[in-house]
Amino acid sequence: MNVVLVSSEVFPFSKTGGLADVAGALPKALAENGLKVSVFSPLYKSIDKTNLSLLLNLNVDFNAQLIKTNIYHTLKDRCDFYFIENEAYFNRDHLYGIGAIDYEDNALRFGFFSKAVLEILKALKINPDIIHSNDWQSALINVYLKLFYKDIFAKTKTVFTIHNLGYQGIFDKSYINNLGLPWDVFTLDGLEFYDKVNFLKGGIVFADTVNTVSKTYAKEIQTSENGFGLDGLLKKFSYKLSGIVNGIDIDVWDPKSDKFIDYNFNNPKDKIKNKSALQKLLGLPIKEVPVFGIVSRLAAQKGMDIFSSSAKELLESNANVQFIILGSGEKDIEEQIAQLSSRYKDKVSLNLKFDEPLAHKIYASSDFFVMPSKYEPCGLGQMIAYRYGTLPIVRETGGLKDTVKNYSNRSKNPTGFVFEKYDVKELTKTIKKAIELFNKKDELLKIAQYVMSLDYSWKNQAKEYIKLYKKIYG
Ligand code: ADP
Repeated sequence: MNVVLVSSEVFPFSKTGGLADVAGALPKALAENGLKVSVFSPLYKSIDKTNLSLLLNLNVDFNAQLIKTNIYHTLKDRCDFYFIENEAYFNRDHLYGIGAIDYEDNALRFGFFSKAVLEILKALKINPDIIHSNDWQSALINVYLKLFYKDIFAKTKTVFTIHNLGYQGIFDKSYINNLGLPWDVFTLDGLEFYDKVNFLKGGIVFADTVNTVSKTYAKEIQTSENGFGLDGLLKKFSYKLSGIVNGIDIDVWDPKSDKFIDYNFNNPKDKIKNKSALQKLLGLPIKEVPVFGIVSRLAAQKGMDIFSSSAKELLESNANVQFIILGSGEKDIEEQIAQLSSRYKDKVSLNLKFDEPLAHKIYASSDFFVMPSKYEPCGLGQMIAYRYGTLPIVRETGGLKDTVKNYSNRSKNPTGFVFEKYDVKELTKTIKKAIELFNKKDELLKIAQYVMSLDYSWKNQAKEYIKLYKKIYG
């Protein structure tokens, strides 16, 4: 089976979040199962071209112009990676925008990306069985394919994965012209959404099958609470909607060989050395206190608003803890946590940046990993934390519900802490329970050992995707 995977970010070349992890690891797992896989992504400024080879120059007919583009290639993990270069659209400092502010021409940037992929496939005479697109940035592939490329790719079927329904790519309707789309797709049954054009909606309507990244999230997005205005549409298409939990790349996240951590380990007892090293690095007192790590976009979606209030409560009541936070995002949340870190210098380390090595250190050194998301399509942090014997503290939602089992007196094989209500008090109570467990060292170590043995690799999950591909390809 010949699969083309399209993603606006792909690890280790580009990354802002979980989509990059998936696009970097799923192809490898598919190739290990004998599939032929090609991956397409933009060539951003941050990607080093020197290790890629220039394969092709092409003029893509887009926005009433012929747009010059160069295609670079490399082979990695037995998969072909293609990078689409366009000076004006992709040679920028950020992938989508600066902080929470998107670039104004994102409709054109990613419309072009989607069109260019199909033009490159045509030029390279690649005739895929499956085109697997992801999120709004590559959603228009499904639309262009059905409208303009049906003859060339007559047998090709499309899979569209929603990694986060909260980001839909909604733009002024005038873009219909720029994107070269006929106005008859601008309807309630097509791309129209409250008089605007909605890329994600187009992806859902035009794809042969749609999936999201956990079974629970697949159900949640069909409700008005989590449907972001598309719940009706998703209910209508529920016959072609499914959920497949993501895996993680266990070679990238491996405490035994991780190059970013100070001490490799196989037993959670040995985490302590990493903890001391990280405390030293971040200027925190080197102490055996419970460390709560966060590696996340600092967004309300991620529960960072209730986290900052809960941390404040705990610190004001003099809790003997340390919070180590890595991430950036919404300004008000950044400020709330910054206030805590300046007031409680010995207990809060805030690192407002994207930093891959530091992320690894935090997963490896923390006792607990805090993810109190308001909603969470899948979440990777909890599974990465397991690899390093770090217990996640999560809210019962989406993929977190599907992957974390709550610790209580009665539960068998718990893997972390789960609370239900999106509420500061609930989170504080749960963190306190974690502190109690921290003081029962043997019990904590036993659970940490158990979570390290869990298999959240892509091995099984890739098989789920192959099943889905086969189902629609026949
Ligand atoms: P998202 O909704 O942001 O995609 P996920 O939990 O699915 O959330 O994936 C987040 C990924 O991004 C994980 O690999 C996490 O370690 C990484 N990540 C998030 N923020 C940062 C940061 N500031 N620095 C380094 N890695 C980060």
